[in-house]
Amino acid sequence: MLELEPFDDVVTGIKTATAQGGKAIMWAYSYRVDNVFFDAGCANAKEELRSHIKGIERLLVTHSHEDHVGGCSVFGPDTPILAPDLTIPVLKSPPNLNEFFQYVWGQPEPIEDVELMSSQFSVGDLDFEVIPLPGHSQDMVGFYEVHNRWFFSADGVPLPSKKRLAMDDENVPQAIATMERILELDVDVLFDFHRGPIRNPQQYIQTRIDFLKGVQNQVRDLHQEGKTIEEIQSILNFEPPWYMDLTEGRFGIDYLIRSLIFDQP
Ligand SMILES: [Zn+2]
Repeated sequence: MLELEPFDDVVTGIKTATAQGGKAIMWAYSYRVDNVFFDAGCANAKEELRSHIKGIERLLVTHSHEDHVGGCSVFGPDTPILAPDLTIPVLKSPPNLNEFFQYVWGQPEPIEDVELMSSQFSVGDLDFEVIPLPGHSQDMVGFYEVHNRWFFSADGVPLPSKKRLAMDDENVPQAIATMERILELDVDVLFDFHRGPIRNPQQYIQTRIDFLKGVQNQVRDLHQEGKTIEEIQSILNFEPPWYMDLTEGRFGIDYLIRSLIFDQP
């Protein structure tokens, strides 16, 4: 399914999702900025996306996750697709998703032609800087518009959630440091890719930093007392969400704990 969410005359949020009982399982936002697209949403909505990309001149991709790149294949051969260097090989040869992620987002198709994104670009009067956002994934970037102080943050500020889990390639301390750098940018509107635009986002971002740092302190204290990863999980009562087993090892509570202790994925 697909819904449009206009922000102003220039920016429109394009929300894509898989429908379950008429409702989105989870929205993934792309943004249309004038005649440029930031991300392409999920593959399960790509046929609906087709009618919204007429006149689009470029597609810029923030990172390789399937909820951001699944619609890339509907952009025609005349529309350049630009991506960060680490994203390019994944776009050309996307991993085969398991049944659960195929259901939730859909399987991206390989993209043949992908160009390397430069560190700055313009869209009409808007001037953007490309900001690296490592942590959630190693390849991710965001787009900072200097005149309006807009920041298109991809998945740089995770959704508020009580879920304590991580992906196998996620570096959570690095993701916290990335959020602290986003706070240092002068941001008036944070364009989140799962929540939509958030005005004056400083408190929103700080809350996420505080939550993850709180978990990190608890985990590191127990680690220093000599507790194992399993013991830490049980002492802190971290419960898996219902879908944990369905991810077949892509998400784990142990990944989160290990990453918080050792500062690496
Ligand atoms: Zn992501």
